[in-house]
Amino acid sequence: MTRKIFVTTALPYANGSFHIGHIMEYIQADIWVRFQRMQGHELHFVGADDAHGAPIMLKAEAEGITPEQLVARIGAERKQYLDGFHIAFDNWHSTHSPENTELSQDIYRQLKAAGLIYTKSIEQFYDPVKQMFLADRYIKGECPKCGAKDQYGDACEVCGSVYAPTDLKNPYSTLTGATPVMKSSEHYFFKLSDERCRDFLKKWLDEAGHLQPQVANKAREWLTGEGDKALGDWDISRDAPYFGIPIPDAPGKYFYVWLDAPVGYLASFKNYCAKKGIDFDAFLADPSTEQIHFIGKDIIYFHTLFWPAMLHFAQKKTPNQINVHGFITVSGEKMSKSRGTGIDPLRYLEVGMNPEWLRYYIAAKLNASVEDIDFNPDDFMARVNSDLIGKYVNIASRSAKFVTEKFGGKLAEVKPIQWLGGLPSRADLISRIAEQYDSREFGKAIRDSMQFADKVNQYVDVVKPWAMAKAGDNDDRLHELCSEFLDYFRVLTVLLAPVLPQVRDKVEKFLNCSLRTFDDALQPLPAGHQISAYTHLMTRVEEKQLDALLDIEKEPAKVTNSTPHPATPAKSGVTPPSQPSPVKGEGVSSGADTPTISIDDFSKIDLRIAKIVNAEHVEGADKLLRLTLDVGALGTKQVFAGIKSAYDPATLVGRLTVMVANLAPRKMKFGMSEGMVLAASGEAPGLFILSPDAGAQPGMKVK
Ligand SMILES: [Zn+2]
Repeated sequence: MTRKIFVTTALPYANGSFHIGHIMEYIQADIWVRFQRMQGHELHFVGADDAHGAPIMLKAEAEGITPEQLVARIGAERKQYLDGFHIAFDNWHSTHSPENTELSQDIYRQLKAAGLIYTKSIEQFYDPVKQMFLADRYIKGECPKCGAKDQYGDACEVCGSVYAPTDLKNPYSTLTGATPVMKSSEHYFFKLSDERCRDFLKKWLDEAGHLQPQVANKAREWLTGEGDKALGDWDISRDAPYFGIPIPDAPGKYFYVWLDAPVGYLASFKNYCAKKGIDFDAFLADPSTEQIHFIGKDIIYFHTLFWPAMLHFAQKKTPNQINVHGFITVSGEKMSKSRGTGIDPLRYLEVGMNPEWLRYYIAAKLNASVEDIDFNPDDFMARVNSDLIGKYVNIASRSAKFVTEKFGGKLAEVKPIQWLGGLPSRADLISRIAEQYDSREFGKAIRDSMQFADKVNQYVDVVKPWAMAKAGDNDDRLHELCSEFLDYFRVLTVLLAPVLPQVRDKVEKFLNCSLRTFDDALQPLPAGHQISAYTHLMTRVEEKQLDALLDIEKEPAKVTNSTPHPATPAKSGVTPPSQPSPVKGEGVSSGADTPTISIDDFSKIDLRIAKIVNAEHVEGADKLLRLTLDVGALGTKQVFAGIKSAYDPATLVGRLTVMVANLAPRKMKFGMSEGMVLAASGEAPGLFILSPDAGAQPGMKVK
């Protein structure tokens, strides 16, 4: 039976570029989508940018542009990533769209009519200078327990104590530095504590197939929590100024970004339906339609409680399946804003690495659970080279040339009865791997495919077609065997096609046949079928490519390779925040196009006098020196500076210079870089580090 499926991935927040966590999620969903299409099902796969909220409003303001301009710029760069990794969304849209406004307001009106919306006055910190209510992340102050300065409103990073923002001593707004005042405002709430919501959610969570067992358990814990763990009502409004969707009949009030973000799934699909002439309402009203979301484990709360309840009480279809994945770590380290480890997906493409290597590696590691997966560069290279090149491609490259050279490119008959011993039958292998894809057990599908490839290679090793060709005494048998090997290769190509769509396309040309469905692999090609000459299908991963991907020596114009991080905190996205994308080909700013900043912007940079206590060459680095800096009360810091071309390390020791002390540390190939030293450069060659006048001491602030 043909399934009707509507699939989404979590909406990325539109204040920054995609990071490797996004790409992993898209690859997971894309493999599943391609597999379902290969089964002949009707499937629509859509995504969108999550465009609203205070962080985007403030980032746009800091850049001197409108939020619309900011999200348009971010939206425009999505395509190169999606195309680059062969992610075949049918539509990419934005939550800042007429469809989303209409759908969000409609859902709100329905919830209101159901008696599930109420208002309540709440007191909150307010920035009197900015004239804006402050979310907790925009308030800092002194820890009420240990007195540490510059702590956020929820917890102290020094002593670890947890408190409310109102407990902070000497609180200040991180936006203006002003002392916030308490101010009350009327907020709108979705009554999730209502018995009807609880009853519905209890049933929805218990229904098999909606959630992975561990995810359902977590959601049940939240739903049935008591005392201070009890599930509260949901504050769905924010006061102007806010970049969002206005709440109907409530001047100055906007939907909290988390209300309209998931509605963006429907908005993107609606936008797509209009383009394709599909009846959006009828498609979703059809009880056989499956609505399936792929998300990361950090947003389970919103997707398993609010989202189904919102939809149900707005008389809309509720999700059939929410598939949750874990995070991706790189060499065992979680991506982190402050340390900035990770792989930049655009850089991956720029250094010429094959996107299908990454798709394969991620597929081999993914299963249906919520476990994290790790990208380990050595393991990546070993696995891709041994499996894809050494096992899979090898079968074709070892047998095709005999068919073309000796038999005019025509295949001999492969009798359906012929099949490798010790393996499930052809049909059983294909259906088993199909089940594994369907249940998102991609790792198992890859493992079973590679076991099959191993078996084929052992067979080739035993019969040695190259020796037979040399002997030339049994060409009929050689013809049969090579045709049989190519048949196995063709089956493998179909089994791997959801992961390797581009290789599949090349093999279709090479074998001169269609490989669009799993059924295409059920029968061998007929005797006399003409194939084309074998052309290279895939190259090996080379170490120098991984070096280029992970390397840090890529921008001589910068004194260090650290890219400053945006100060704006991200709204929770699919996975932890990304490292910033590398600065590309950026020279020295002419000044003319540099936007003006406020004194507040400038004061975010902590410039300090630093004494260079040690300077040395870095093994294997062409441009870097490792500097050890004494920064007075801030202690000793290690910085990698791209000044090797201009300075002999010995002449630097003992000098005073100026460093950026609060730049987020960045992990480099050679170690951690904990800041940046400043140097001048111009059109002509030469780099000139700064020096203070006599009398300056290490640790002094520069302002
Ligand atoms: Zn503290």
